[in-house]
Amino acid sequence: MDSLNVEQIASLRATLEQLLTDLRKQVALASPATSTVVLNQSKVGRLSRMDALQQQHMANSTLQQAKKRLTLVQKALGKMSKEDYGYCERCGEVIAFARLQARPEAQLCLKCQSQQEQ
Ligand SMILES: [Zn+2]
Repeated sequence: MDSLNVEQIASLRATLEQLLTDLRKQVALASPATSTVVLNQSKVGRLSRMDALQQQHMANSTLQQAKKRLTLVQKALGKMSKEDYGYCERCGEVIAFARLQARPEAQLCLKCQSQQEQ
C-alpha cells in the first residue's frame, strides 16, 4: 500500500489537533467532577447514594478513556513531526487512510488490531 500523501497527512493532522483540543477540554471538565464527589450518607438516601456512586464510576471511566485517547493523540502528533506517522507499530505496514480518518490516533493496522483483539 502507498504511504500517505501530503494532503492526507495535513487533513489527519487537523483532525488530530481538533481531537487534542476536545479531549483536553473533556479531561479538564471531568477531573473536578470525579474528584469532588462527596458522599454523605446522613444527607443522601441509600438509592441516590448508589446513583451517585454509579455516576462517579461512569464519569471516571469516561475520564480514563479520554486520558488514554489523549495520550495516543499526542503520540500520533509526535510521530507526525518526525515523519514517522501512519505505520503499523507491529508489522510496519502503512495503515490505510480510511482507517486513520476514522481513528487518526491508531497505532496498528486493521489486521494487527483484529489479531490483538482475538
Ligand atoms: Zn500491522
